[in-house]
Amino acid sequence: MSEPLSFDEAIERFDPVMGIEVHVELNTKTKMFCSCANRFGAPANSQVCPVCLGLPGAMPAVNHKAVESAIRLGLALNCAVAEHSTFARKNYFYPDLSKDYQISQYEDPIDFDGYLDVELADGTVWRVGIERAHMEEDAAKNTHIGGATGRIQGADYTLVDYNRGGTPLVEIVTKPIEGAGSKAPELARAYVAALRELVIALGISDARMEQGSIRADVNLSLRPRAATAAEQAAVPFGKRSETKNVNSLRSIEKTIRYEISRQAGLLATGELVVQETRHWHEDSESTSPGRSKEEADDYRYFPEPDLLPIEPSRAWVESLRRTLPEPPAVRRARLRSEWGFTELEMGDAVNAGAVDLIAATVAAGTSPAGARKWWLGELARTANERGVDLAALPVSAEDVAAVESMISSGRLTDKLARQVLEGVLAGEGSPAAVVSARGLEIVSDHAALLSAIDAALAAQPDIAAKIRGGKVQAIGAIVGAVMKATRGQADAARVRELILERLSS
Ligand SMILES: [Zn+2]
Repeated sequence: MSEPLSFDEAIERFDPVMGIEVHVELNTKTKMFCSCANRFGAPANSQVCPVCLGLPGAMPAVNHKAVESAIRLGLALNCAVAEHSTFARKNYFYPDLSKDYQISQYEDPIDFDGYLDVELADGTVWRVGIERAHMEEDAAKNTHIGGATGRIQGADYTLVDYNRGGTPLVEIVTKPIEGAGSKAPELARAYVAALRELVIALGISDARMEQGSIRADVNLSLRPRAATAAEQAAVPFGKRSETKNVNSLRSIEKTIRYEISRQAGLLATGELVVQETRHWHEDSESTSPGRSKEEADDYRYFPEPDLLPIEPSRAWVESLRRTLPEPPAVRRARLRSEWGFTELEMGDAVNAGAVDLIAATVAAGTSPAGARKWWLGELARTANERGVDLAALPVSAEDVAAVESMISSGRLTDKLARQVLEGVLAGEGSPAAVVSARGLEIVSDHAALLSAIDAALAAQPDIAAKIRGGKVQAIGAIVGAVMKATRGQADAARVRELILERLSS
């Protein structure tokens, strides 16, 4: 076995060509071909019926909403929408597929020939060609028990949950992505990230990669590097590997990087790249071989006899085009300029899934900087600790706006505000309710502050004398004593002013 080449050397000697297939689970109420609920997390095998279990004689019927979502996604990807599109049977045997075939689309997918513009960190924009986007149903979920890795190898037995069987999917297939060179890993990640953002903007999927509602299969091949782009384009593609079900953006980037090094190592020593599927291992940050890759012929595709062709009217397609949201990249640029964020700040907001939350908080009256401070600070930390999405925290944009407004009106300090949000997150009610229940409001009562200051000065007469004598830096001890006496609920800057006033009078 040859050793992987270093990434830099690999890129110097070879030209990577990628193909990315992304499966998106649609968030329709029901499954693709039956009326079972399409919901993640229900008890195993509680959402099944004769159709999605593939019992003899059961008849599928197409989910109208799933077709609508597939068309809207196609339009957003600048695809043509087919006037005539059919379903086909993709035959293979596996326990997660109880019919022994998957209903998919083969010859005439619903969407074809589009593109998605993808921006890289250096600001360059890549146009990734979209070959097709087709509808299909998901398989059931196998859980292999007993092995160390969770894979079938070494497992004692396998549990099958058919709830996922029949979930509506759209599979988006790129055209070969050529010419990215050393940017290939970043481009792969950025493409899937952009696609995910688009799907969220369209509202057609939960788009949770960690739950598998977006999964990517990444194909990579290398060919010898040529001197010019024109010569390069004439070099035939090499044999490719297909790494299946990569389910985080980070892993997509690392998979491409690793496969470039691995294949370059083979080719550099005269070995051949085997056309096969591979698996990505997060722990070793490497891939290992799966099965040798089937060709389309192996699936014996044939037209699904139980379903009519899909022939969406042009009027319907055009009416769906009018429902498309502002493209995410355009919206992001617009909001960044409206909010006055730097690229970096906006990038952080996007990565944290905070853009919509910040937008809602700003709409509720908070300054963009104020909204960002909470969502990307305290709340992002909490979400991270709890291992949930920011949007899943039990705090609303209105809550954050209420807290910020109490700070700007002088009723709360930042420190007290953190305690208020802690209370909201703990389910103690609205910010106003937490403030009153926990007694968190700033002590702004002038007389109360003055008496606390007088008590502190009387308790430390030597320090009082120092301050009077001009050693103003000694004031910290008195401010500290007053803050302690007011349980941290005074505005320290105001206390400082009052102490100086008191001592100069
Ligand atoms: Zn069903």
